[in-house]
Amino acid sequence: MSEQYTPLDDIPRVLACARNAFLSDRAKPVAFRKQQIAQVGYLLKDNEERFKEALKLDLGRHAVETELFDFGPTYKDVRVAYDNVEKWTKVQPIDFNLNYIAMRPTIKAEPKGVILIVSAFNVPLFLTLGPLVSAIASGCAAVIKPSEAVPHVNLLLAELIPKYLDPELYHVIQGGVAETSKILELRWDHILYIGGERVGRIIAQAAAKHLTPITLELGGKNPVVVDPKVDIEMTARRLLWGRFSNAGQVCTCPEYVLVPRTFQSTLISALKDAYGKFYPDGPENSDSFSRIVTREHAARLQGLLKRTNGEIVCGGDVDVEKKYVAPTIVNNVTAEDALMGEEMFGPVLLIVPVEDVDEAIAFIQARETPLAVYVFSQDKKFQEKVFSSTRSGAALANETVLSPAVPGFPVGGVGASGYGYYAGKQAFEQFTHYRVSLDNPSWVDTLVFGFRFPPYNDRYKKYVRMMHAPLPPRPTKGAKTTKPGFAWTWWISFVVSMLVSTLPLILVRKNDVLRKLRS
Ligand code: NAD
Repeated sequence: MSEQYTPLDDIPRVLACARNAFLSDRAKPVAFRKQQIAQVGYLLKDNEERFKEALKLDLGRHAVETELFDFGPTYKDVRVAYDNVEKWTKVQPIDFNLNYIAMRPTIKAEPKGVILIVSAFNVPLFLTLGPLVSAIASGCAAVIKPSEAVPHVNLLLAELIPKYLDPELYHVIQGGVAETSKILELRWDHILYIGGERVGRIIAQAAAKHLTPITLELGGKNPVVVDPKVDIEMTARRLLWGRFSNAGQVCTCPEYVLVPRTFQSTLISALKDAYGKFYPDGPENSDSFSRIVTREHAARLQGLLKRTNGEIVCGGDVDVEKKYVAPTIVNNVTAEDALMGEEMFGPVLLIVPVEDVDEAIAFIQARETPLAVYVFSQDKKFQEKVFSSTRSGAALANETVLSPAVPGFPVGGVGASGYGYYAGKQAFEQFTHYRVSLDNPSWVDTLVFGFRFPPYNDRYKKYVRMMHAPLPPRPTKGAKTTKPGFAWTWWISFVVSMLVSTLPLILVRKNDVLRKLRS
């Protein structure tokens, strides 16, 4: 389907069009933003059946998963942005400060410009339309480069975005590596990249040439720590659902389960039970199980499974031609196993036995920071111990995968799983520049701030000092930290000194001052 790719020569023209439209200022009024945000929602709503069909063709995905992973989180982003954009864009005054009050200092949320969104294939609507909503909410123009791995979805996006949205402000560029490389030669005002780490580095290097700020939403291997104090049936069900949905092609999928050796056989037997219930006629015949996005990825997973020293207790079959990798559980996986290398991004759940929770924590700490850490335990102290000793984009107890669907949650990684956010207020802030502004009346120089002009006079040195914010109390060993309070003594002495020092000046130059105040 590469005939649908955007010609390379058109790419600079797309950016120029988006930039001109942005400079026309029409993306800024809040009413316009709200109208376009709502339109993103209706673009999806009016075409749900077509999108479900496209996702069936691209990923062999059941409609329920499309509702759960693509529609639901996108509608959530639309609703959150629509309801909050007025609040987010409101001009903010600074905290009360006598030194600057006359200047009426304010902070204004201004759009950065044209946002480039380069996106992954696995939840292609949420990962393109969600960030687009944030770009619209912040008043920016945007160009989306969806993953070429889902061509049927892309055809629909390219058809519908210009129909539902301002066609000069918001664009889709279709293509693969050649097109993305061309795109990256250009200067953007912010780049949001969602995908693997290798390409993330290419994006970061290209952005550095233009000093373009970027957000990287990468992947990783998400661990699960299981405590024997769990509802075992629920644990098995949620683990398998999290791992096998979308055939394991979800960035927040649980990838490996750290389980105490004493509890390992109980967990394995619960997982086998749940597996049987999920796929009573076998996963290959189930319409609830998706396919791998490309034959290359299916072959990659096949290669990894061949190299494992672990014990395959469920699944393991691969049919590369059909892009089918069976939902698979591998038991007794060790740290050195081939499956413990890179993120798999496929339906393979690894069971890694450990002695206890301390060994589980050490295992996680020894690896790159993942997008999510999951804990299955009824014991709050156990949950807290794991979460406080590890770092990750999300920390969920007794659940997996769900966090991007929760309204108000930012979505983002930390360390090797990326930086920045692509949902909620935090994504709006990323595409926003907080521009500070003030307007200083001329009488301020006469009354208060005149001492700053040369020739400098040592007499006024103390007033310069008074402009400094008072430091908190000096920390002393063993002293308790005090709560921040209003620095009354500082303010009173400042006001009194100012009046005492400027009064003679005012009296001498009374007429001057009055004239200035009147003007
Ligand atoms: P990918 O990195 O292969 O592709 C992502 C995008 O990069 C695509 O649009 C692709 O066209 C482009 N691209 C590919 N090669 C390129 C190159 N050489 N130069 C420039 N651009 C190039 O990722 P994918 O296979 O589509 O998605 C899977 C990865 O995405 C996984 O690692 C997964 O964890 C991650 N992911 C992360 C999140 C998150 O929220 N952090 C969400 C979804 C997916």
